[in-house]
Amino acid sequence: MKTGIKKNDILLIFIVLAVAGSAAFLHNLLGTAGAGSVTVKVNGVIEGVYSLGEDQEIEINKGTNYLVIKNGKADMIRADCPDKLCVNQKAVSKNHESIICLPNKVIVEVNSTEKGEYDAVAN
Ligand SMILES: [Zn+2]
Repeated sequence: MKTGIKKNDILLIFIVLAVAGSAAFLHNLLGTAGAGSVTVKVNGVIEGVYSLGEDQEIEINKGTNYLVIKNGKADMIRADCPDKLCVNQKAVSKNHESIICLPNKVIVEVNSTEKGEYDAVAN
């Protein structure tokens, strides 16, 4: 009886591991196939997370900054900051790339499992 329970426990662990493993695998797969997402932070607080796979215009911080997502890339198109450094920054699409607007304390960061090699395949 005791060994029976033990066997079931081991089986259960295997099932849990298998499910967790395939979930992680699926996540990686989707992360690679999809374009990832951008996290928008204002003053250190997350204001929103937006998919890079969906073309959209995002109003940040009640309109101090406007971000456009197009063709899997995020680009700051308008801002009321004096330096406009964020607007002049290139569009971002790769993991950990970011657009930062210091005067408005706005940070746009890419979260993606996508790496350069997959770009070549996708294009
Ligand atoms: Zn700016």
